[in-house]
This record gives sequence, structure tokens and C-alpha cells, in this order.
Amino acid sequence: MKKNILSWILLQLVSFSMVCFAQVKPAKIVTTPITTNIYSFFLNDFVNVIAFVGTEGVLLIDTGFDNTPAISGFSNSAEAIKEELKKLGYSNIKFVINTHYNFDHTFGNTLLGEKATIIAHHLCREQLAREAQFPKTGLPQVTFRDSINLYFNGEEISLYYMPGHTKSDIIVWFKNSKVICLGDLVISDSFTSIQFDGNANRLGKSLQAIYEKFPDDITFLPAHGRKLNRSELKANADMVLETTAIITKAIQEKMSLLTMKRLNILNDYEKWNGQLFKQLTADRWIDYVYFSIHGSEVFSVATKLGEIIDKSGLDAGLAECKELYTENGDGYYFSEFEFNNLGYKLLGESKVKEAIEIFKFNTVMYPTSWNVYDSLGEGYWNLKDKKHTVANYEQSLKLNPANTNASKMLDKIRNAK
Ligand SMILES: [Zn+2]
Repeated sequence: MKKNILSWILLQLVSFSMVCFAQVKPAKIVTTPITTNIYSFFLNDFVNVIAFVGTEGVLLIDTGFDNTPAISGFSNSAEAIKEELKKLGYSNIKFVINTHYNFDHTFGNTLLGEKATIIAHHLCREQLAREAQFPKTGLPQVTFRDSINLYFNGEEISLYYMPGHTKSDIIVWFKNSKVICLGDLVISDSFTSIQFDGNANRLGKSLQAIYEKFPDDITFLPAHGRKLNRSELKANADMVLETTAIITKAIQEKMSLLTMKRLNILNDYEKWNGQLFKQLTADRWIDYVYFSIHGSEVFSVATKLGEIIDKSGLDAGLAECKELYTENGDGYYFSEFEFNNLGYKLLGESKVKEAIEIFKFNTVMYPTSWNVYDSLGEGYWNLKDKKHTVANYEQSLKLNPANTNASKMLDKIRNAK
């Protein structure tokens, strides 16, 4: 299963941020001091940008979104970060470190790294260089393979290669301050995601290595979510190792992806369902682990369906898809989030009826997922079909009363009457 890297990343962003799509808001930051000179800027309710400040200037870990509001849902993130630094009495950004290549961690490089040295793993630079819309001025200037040390503001800072979420992840250890930035290896209290080049086994190994290498008095900062102590990190590492073992065993027993979900093989791990990113459910984690281990040997029904719809239209696509679904065999997989993304792709191409059929199919496959009804509601809303819009948002809200998008949409529709 070869994936177009750019579309994969965009789809990741789309599926994370579709709730924000409706309107673009000015960037916002909530600042939390971690030590006297390390601050966490929680940017746009999404990602933590870490600022290390001192007499020699500022070192930033990750740079958040750029000014592409259509993707992030927020505008002027880089300016907001500069403003926040100014409030702390600093403006001179000397170093930028990227924990990996995802755009929510790198797209502010150009604006924030103008006068700084940008540092990252060499595979991070390679990946960013491949991305057509990533500005070349934001590419890392210093790269490394295993580790590199930096001496700045009186602190020894070590960067270590620790892949898993992607092939290019690093962690950043502030030795005197006893703080480690984890990038996306961990999302606090949640399953994380695994990108097209990531791997669940490597992620487990990296987390275990971090846990075993560092002492109890370290504060761990994931790029998404709250800070963690060492035992909380261990709990997360154990979850990754145990769930990967369960899914690997199921793959060896030739269980299909759909059956793994129907049998709820991660039943005991549902407390790790995402809070910050509601889409990161146990089912989604099964997808990520399965693809990262088994991906090259199976094909995606959603991808195939998208191709058939493009070539021969919706009916031909759905006929093929239903046939495969009834067979439920090996060699192909159905993924809720891929179907969802396909629906949004079709919506983006103004193929509203096609999109609705895809979303509908997702509600048949995943009747307990609040997100599929939320998407179907949005599909009907595009068709100006109020009755079905309301019915689907109500169903979504019933399954997940915390779905603020659905409640907002329902208010909007009712107020418009
Ligand atoms: Zn991220």
C-alpha cells in the first residue's frame, strides 16, 4: 500500500481539524511555565510550542502552524508566538528545533526561524524538502543522525534520535532543568498516531528506552497534552507495547482489521481514547498499528473506492465496495478514518452526493462511532437537507454528548428557522 505522502499528511490534518474548518480565528496561546526559563505555549488548542529563554536568547522547540488558516483554522500563529515571547521579555530567537516533520510542528519555521539556526533529524529535513508547499526558507540548516549536543543559556541540551511516530522523531533533553520534550511520541493520556513512515514496534522501543534511560525527577513534555512524570510515561509506554503485541498476535492469526474492531480486541485500553483529539480511539489505534506492521501486504478499500469513483462513478465504486465488505476476508481493509477522509475529499470536490454515500457507508460499518454521523450531518448540510442534517447531528450527539461541533450546528440550524 503506497501512499502519497502529501495527501497522507493533509488527510491527517483534515481529520484532526475538520471541526475548525467553519471559520478562521486569530491564533491563541495559553502559556504554562514549566521551570523558571522553560515555557509551554499551548497554541490554538492543538500543539505545545516550547520556549527556552535566557540571557543568550530564545530556543524554540517546534513552530506550530503557519499562516495557512484553511488547514489550521487559525491565522497568524507565528506572530502570536513572537508576541508571547515579547511579553516574557524576549525577542531574539537563536535556535529552532523540530521534533519531526509534521506541519503542526514545522510550518512556522520560516517566520520564527528567520534569524535562527534550525536543527532537526536529517530525515526530517529530507521529508520537508519533498513537500512542495513547505517553504524552502524553513528547512532545517543543521541535521544529525543519532545525537547532537547544544550549549545555550548555560544549559546542556541533548537531542536524541527516537523514531516511531515517524521515521524522523527526536527528543530534546534539558539536562540542568531536568525536562525532556517528546514531540509526538506521546499524546498525554491518549493513543497517539503513527504516520506513513512510522512504526508501532519502533515507537514501543523508543518509549521503553526513554523510560529506562531517564531518572524519576524528569518532567516529560509531549507536544500535545499535559506534562507527564516518569510513571505516567511508563504507563503510556506499556500501553503501546501491550496493544502492539495484541494486534500483532491478531495479525498472525489472520484476523482481518474489521474483525479486530468488531471483537473489540483493545477493550481493556479504552481509557486511552483521545481527549484532545477525539478521533484517536482504540479503533483508530488498531488502524495505525495494523498499517505500520502489515500495511504493505494489504490494500485499502477506501483508496480503491476513491479511484473507481473518479473513473467510473459512484455506483460502480459502491458495488465493488459492498462485495468486499460482505466477504470480509484478508488482503484488504476498511478504515473508518480513511472512508471519512474520502468523503471529505469528495465534499471538497463538490461531489456532495458521492460524499454522502461514503459517509453513509461508514455509519453502516461503524454504527457506534459519533464521528461518522457528524460527517454525514455535514454532508447533508452541504445539500441543504435540514431534516437529515439534524437527524445525524442528533445521533452523533447521542453517542458523544461532548461533540461541540454537533451542538453548535444544531443551534445554528434551529436559530435559522
Ligand atoms: Zn503533532
